[in-house]
Amino acid sequence: MIKFLDLQKVNSLYANELKNVAAQIIDEGWFLNGKWNEKFADNLKEYIGCEYVIPCGNGLDALRLIFRAYKEMGIMKDGDEVIVPANTYIATVLAITDNNLVPVFVDPDEDSYNINLEKIESFITSRTKAIAIVHLYGQVCWSHKLKELKEKYGLKIVEDNAQSIGAKWNGVHTGNLGDAAGFSFYPGKNLGALGDSGAITTNDEKLAHIVKALANYGSVIRYVHDYKGLNSRMDEIQAAFLSIKLKRIDERNHIRKLIAKRYMDEIQNPYITLPKIVKGDIDSHVFHLFVIRTPYREQLQNYLKQKGIETLIHYPTPVHKQSCYREYATTSCKLSECIQKEILSLPISSVMEEDEVEIVINVINQFKP
Ligand SMILES: *Cc1c(COP(=O)(O)O)cnc(C)c1O
Repeated sequence: MIKFLDLQKVNSLYANELKNVAAQIIDEGWFLNGKWNEKFADNLKEYIGCEYVIPCGNGLDALRLIFRAYKEMGIMKDGDEVIVPANTYIATVLAITDNNLVPVFVDPDEDSYNINLEKIESFITSRTKAIAIVHLYGQVCWSHKLKELKEKYGLKIVEDNAQSIGAKWNGVHTGNLGDAAGFSFYPGKNLGALGDSGAITTNDEKLAHIVKALANYGSVIRYVHDYKGLNSRMDEIQAAFLSIKLKRIDERNHIRKLIAKRYMDEIQNPYITLPKIVKGDIDSHVFHLFVIRTPYREQLQNYLKQKGIETLIHYPTPVHKQSCYREYATTSCKLSECIQKEILSLPISSVMEEDEVEIVINVINQFKP
């Protein structure tokens, strides 16, 4: 059986270090808002190259906190619009609607699956305050066009960097391209904790200050509450685990890229469309997911299952078609709706063996609908 992702194997690489530091923290007896959070924030700051890192409880909170802070700063208010890709994980959209902001869905570019940068401008209105970009599947979503739009219309650019830690655009890390970024360290992400956690990165001092307070009950000084905040903290144990795993993120991402390259070079089947590295530059994609397309998706997924290969669909239903967002049910995002019927995520991870990659390639090449 070739698993989609073997988390036990992923973490076994660090088992001794993780166990040692967990034991140390149990002995120290200090579990929140401590030195391990500070250390991880410093390490991530250095890695990303940004000015401020604020650890928090999870990726959704990271994004929620950014929009909440912009509201506290008076930059956004209830009813303002945020442009968002139609094909993303629901968290990106929840972070917007949770703050009484209005998501404006834009279809993707067919080659990258990322928001179609050429189409954004036609969706900008007098109420648009931000563009939420998602570096989906691990591929950078960026162009000079975004900077132009930001300046022309006075917008904020918020990055959802949950899937793309380590990816770069002309040497600049994702998470350091826009005005602020939300990271997720959900266990299955390229940099995964052993539980929930997330972080915000930014170069905006004021935003960083407010986000940090908001994540801690709206308080900077204990028992003094400047904002109606929330409780979104990273456990000290998770912060320590993440510092250990962050040291090897480039090496682990490199293995994903090698697997992706083999898939792209060796999967040859007329019924299957392979993903593209749009920028043609391997630094721009960290292959959190390797997503192929075929009109015979159900058939292919069943065939692979019979051959012992586990696959998943990211994501089976577009956000605007979810029942919780019925107010957007009539929104037309034709390309997202079509892509969602055809996509299939193949196994890819930093612990996949070469013979497993070989089997996936051979089995897929033999597929006939
Ligand atoms: C995982 C993910 C999130 C949310 O992260 P959590 O830590 O699970 O809250 C947000 N956006 C995208 C694109 C994701 O893949």
